[in-house]
Amino acid sequence: MRIGLGYDSHLFESGKPLVLGGVVIPECDGLKAHSDGDVLIHAVIDALLGAAALGDIGSHFPDTDDRWKGADSGELLRSVVYELRGAGYSIENIDVTVICERPKLRPFADLIRSSLAKLMSIGIGRISVKGKTNEGMDAVGAGKGIAVHAVALLR
Ligand code: MG
Repeated sequence: MRIGLGYDSHLFESGKPLVLGGVVIPECDGLKAHSDGDVLIHAVIDALLGAAALGDIGSHFPDTDDRWKGADSGELLRSVVYELRGAGYSIENIDVTVICERPKLRPFADLIRSSLAKLMSIGIGRISVKGKTNEGMDAVGAGKGIAVHAVALLR
């Protein structure tokens, strides 16, 4: 068994859709990023790569490379899972905590779990997605962006 920890944060940016775990969240600003800004998937990718000691999202998909401009993070996740399987790993479980003042995550948690399950070709029972606010503290608490922590266990 190998465990990995992932973290990511992005600032809100108006005029684009908010995508979390491959799910478009309505009535909320999107996130500033080179890719589609799916902060949740970015944290999951880093947890997976960290568990396998295979680098990080930046080394696999550099934001200086125009190939990844506006990239669908779901496709990046698919390719990382493919690489891990090739290296002999299977995913035991993923646990994610999303920290933001808005949107409220709970109504979307099961949709996001189902989306991640499809992208990673694993059962939804292996994926947990939880939402928290930062109780008004710091930039995330001031509603400037979203931060995500993820843990992955590989077998
Ligand atoms: Mg990111």
